[in-house]
Amino acid sequence: MDNHLKNISKRLKSLVKNEDLNQSILLIGKDGIGKFKIVMDIAAALLCDSLTACGKCFGCKNVRNLQHPDFLFVFPFPKIRPESRKSTVFSFSDPVSSNARYSDDTRDEIDNYISTRLENPFAIVDFEKKENIPVEVIKDLILALSKKPLLGGRRVVAILNIDKMAFGAADLFLKVVEEPPDDTHIILTTANPDQLMPTLLSRTDIVKIPPAAIEDIETYLIKILDISENQVAYLARMSNGSPGRALYLSQCDLLNRRNMIFSFFEKVLNRDELPRLIGEINRLYTGAAYPFGETRLDFEIMESIIHDLYLLNENHLDNHFINVDIKGKFREMKVPEIESLEIWKGCCGEVRKACLVNNVSVNSAMIFFYISCADSIDNPVRVRLKLP
Ligand SMILES: [Zn+2]
Repeated sequence: MDNHLKNISKRLKSLVKNEDLNQSILLIGKDGIGKFKIVMDIAAALLCDSLTACGKCFGCKNVRNLQHPDFLFVFPFPKIRPESRKSTVFSFSDPVSSNARYSDDTRDEIDNYISTRLENPFAIVDFEKKENIPVEVIKDLILALSKKPLLGGRRVVAILNIDKMAFGAADLFLKVVEEPPDDTHIILTTANPDQLMPTLLSRTDIVKIPPAAIEDIETYLIKILDISENQVAYLARMSNGSPGRALYLSQCDLLNRRNMIFSFFEKVLNRDELPRLIGEINRLYTGAAYPFGETRLDFEIMESIIHDLYLLNENHLDNHFINVDIKGKFREMKVPEIESLEIWKGCCGEVRKACLVNNVSVNSAMIFFYISCADSIDNPVRVRLKLP
């Protein structure tokens, strides 16, 4: 599953071998695309006796199980209750210089995070609460870096999802990136480079991870999932080139959710069904328990359906079609004119922003969206969502 990573991995490893790798590198790519795999490969190469990630020496083996004393591994973890915060310091993979431990309430989740990712470097692991990298961790890191590497050789610091640094932590960390100790390499990752300070970006060598080919993701999914080839094809197309994302989507009931949202669009195209549609939207989106993450996913599904309607409208059923497993159902639809689809697309973006950024009630925003879509069929004039 790592065809798309091979060139990058090869190039970085040859830089390590020639002792030419920049001291700070930043890997940019979507969640689940394989940044973690590159981090582990490069850390192993840097701490390997022969600088080749041979897989056999002490350095290689202990990087791979996160036991190497000079491999400092940091990632965002869920916020903990204020009263337990004081006693919680981040545990690096450094068992000697850190007597730190997690608070008990996050420990299980963190253990699961680490073991899942070591087992499958593409896996996307969610925490129950919102995670970040607290200032305390960066202070701990700075303290650790003020000492010599424990084994006297090189030291590697890996920090995942650097955009999730807490307020204040990023400023402190910038100083580390500006002047890292001579014997220390820093490997950073992010899926959201636009959320990083420009100074941080300019201090690192940026490595962009390309998306995996759809065919590679399909092959990967077929091996591990027990679903039809058509459904595998759909998941692969919804993954934006990220194998981990495809796997994640398969675990969150995407197919049923998509089928339901598709039926909403079918009702939009049939005026008599509108009252029923509103009832269904109310049932789906009402209640405090409606999870934020699913709202985001619903918008991706809505966008994919509008995208495919565009293709249908232009008689363009090529391999850009996303909802391939229900292509037949799309063909049976009375596809709206381009003018209407333009409105659907614009309105979807607007409603998405209202829900995800401005915290407008998802229920009323969704009703607004589908009603606007229905209205646009007879009267393709854009109505704007008024934010409270
Ligand atoms: Zn080795």
